[in-house]
Amino acid sequence: MCPHCTAINRTPVERPAETAKCGACHNPLFSGKPVAVSDQSFATHLQRNDIPVVVDFWADWCGPCKMMAPAYNRVAAELEPHVRFLKVDTEAEQQLAAQYNIRSIPTLMLFREGKIVAQRAGALDATSLRAWIEQNVA
Ligand SMILES: [Zn+2]
Repeated sequence: MCPHCTAINRTPVERPAETAKCGACHNPLFSGKPVAVSDQSFATHLQRNDIPVVVDFWADWCGPCKMMAPAYNRVAAELEPHVRFLKVDTEAEQQLAAQYNIRSIPTLMLFREGKIVAQRAGALDATSLRAWIEQNVA
């Protein structure tokens, strides 16, 4: 799924996903950065992805969230395009926070084919974050 225009793209296996571009808006499908999602685009990201999707539920007023942001960005750059990284601002998207029963932030969730396969609360450094993801997608 294109993070820019939300078009669904099929990436050919013979071409590296790093260079894949959206058929609709021609932007790169993977920027190596987490994608901020809204209520609407979130469901599409989860359901129309055959790669694992990691979600960071965060808020602007949350100190630990801000502390973790550089680590999250770094691990996104390392693991994309094998894993998609999303960010949900729980202040702007309160419905999503309620739907996923977010009680403390940051909360990390890992989805496969729209289903939660792992979740944890609290900030992580880059090494622990990467280990947590790899352990749960293996
Ligand atoms: Zn697009």
